[in-house]
Amino acid sequence: MYNVKSKVAEEFIDDAEILSTIEYAQANKNNRQLIESLIERARNCKGLTHREAALLLECEDPGLIEKMFEVAKEIKQKFYGNRIVMFAPLYLSNYCVNGCVYCPYHAKNKTIARRKLTQEEIRQEVIALQDMGHKRLALEAGEHPAMNPIEYILESIKTIYSIKHKNGAIRRVNVNIAATTVENYQKLRDAGIGTYILFQETYHKKNYEALHPSGPKSNYAYHTEAMDRAMEAGIDDVGIGVLYGLNTYRYDFIGLLMHAEHLEATFGVGPHTISVPRLCDADDIDTDDFANTVPDDIFRRIVAVIRIAVPYTGMIVSTRESQASREKVLDIGVSQISGGSHTSVGGYVNKEEFDETTSQFDVSDRRTLDEVVSWLLDLGYIPSFCTACYRAGRTGDRFMSLVKLGQIANCCQPNALMTLKEYLEDYASPETRLKGERMIEAEMQRVPNEKVRCIAVENLERIAKGERDFRF
Ligand code: SF4
Ligand code: SF4
Repeated sequence: MYNVKSKVAEEFIDDAEILSTIEYAQANKNNRQLIESLIERARNCKGLTHREAALLLECEDPGLIEKMFEVAKEIKQKFYGNRIVMFAPLYLSNYCVNGCVYCPYHAKNKTIARRKLTQEEIRQEVIALQDMGHKRLALEAGEHPAMNPIEYILESIKTIYSIKHKNGAIRRVNVNIAATTVENYQKLRDAGIGTYILFQETYHKKNYEALHPSGPKSNYAYHTEAMDRAMEAGIDDVGIGVLYGLNTYRYDFIGLLMHAEHLEATFGVGPHTISVPRLCDADDIDTDDFANTVPDDIFRRIVAVIRIAVPYTGMIVSTRESQASREKVLDIGVSQISGGSHTSVGGYVNKEEFDETTSQFDVSDRRTLDEVVSWLLDLGYIPSFCTACYRAGRTGDRFMSLVKLGQIANCCQPNALMTLKEYLEDYASPETRLKGERMIEAEMQRVPNEKVRCIAVENLERIAKGERDFRF
């Protein structure tokens, strides 16, 4: 029985509710009046229910789809402006005891080389990331109680935060590790992580079990209830997502929104971010073996309707997507992207050796961070290296209330420009620097609050003289 506040996975992600939502959406997909009224209502930025969002996603009328894109753009502009936050993944270890059939790190894969970074190797990787200009990382590790115990993850986080190389610093470490206990989530919270990220992969229990035939991850309920444990442990910011292509996108799109509704109803705050990865090729993984891969046009609609349904939630797209594909989703919803990524264990220091042998997936967008920054500037976006909120204690419901009141822009805009300035001073190529300086000059005028603007302008001058790490 569907119960949004239940603690039981199969009740807050109720299969019958998802199937009846799909039926409802298909039965009403030609109801123009209803769909128009939902699109109109979405303009007030209060979001939509999973049922309403499912109907929008089902609609095939080109004119109405165009209207949805328009509203998604409006919402994106209102909350995120033209800022895009940058991050990079850091793979610590690809040892894994699970059997996920879509991931080359699965325990039975004997062709992939297994590696785990030592603390010294982590240091070298982080210095390489700092030298690119990154300030925000997403840690990745397979699940392996003996090779990657929680102590290893905690020690690695400590190492990462401690490294200060030239003007570099990693200021926010997000963590993507396997579902774990409340005690371990408390340890992660105490280590000062930013967001705890865990993808559901698919919400369809039967398919989930088939895709995860062995290892602790095969326990659907334990995995699905992980975010509840994380939030109970005091981790305020959690990031959810499904791997599109594993199951029908309709089912997982609805499950994802039901999960967001569950967190909001239970903890008073929904997910901090939603990621939208699509299945891609890797070592012993061929996407042709999967029947549900999602085409580009549907992918764009998924991103737009998520933006409309949960306006306050950041949306992330990784280098799984190509430059062209990323470009198509920036304006309608995505607020964070990775750049210059290596999805291998040790690939930032030694890409020749380790990208070939230890990658989790084939990166589609292989450009350097400077190329990505330059491309964003050309498209009119402000690449932001901001990490201010979590460091200022603006997390969870405190963060969400500022977003909902529309006040966060007073922080995001100057922070984006000041962190871009740091990037330009320390890491950018001459061409990127020129474009970035122009962008900062033009965009500083858009800082809504005059007092904040004056301080930000002063800070820009101080950054030019060598000072670092200003934030609102
Ligand atoms: Fe292991 Fe995660 Fe890959 Fe599954 S998806 S095999 S848990 S690394
Ligand atoms: Fe994100 Fe907060 Fe920085 Fe805005 S001010 S970009 S919400 S960290």
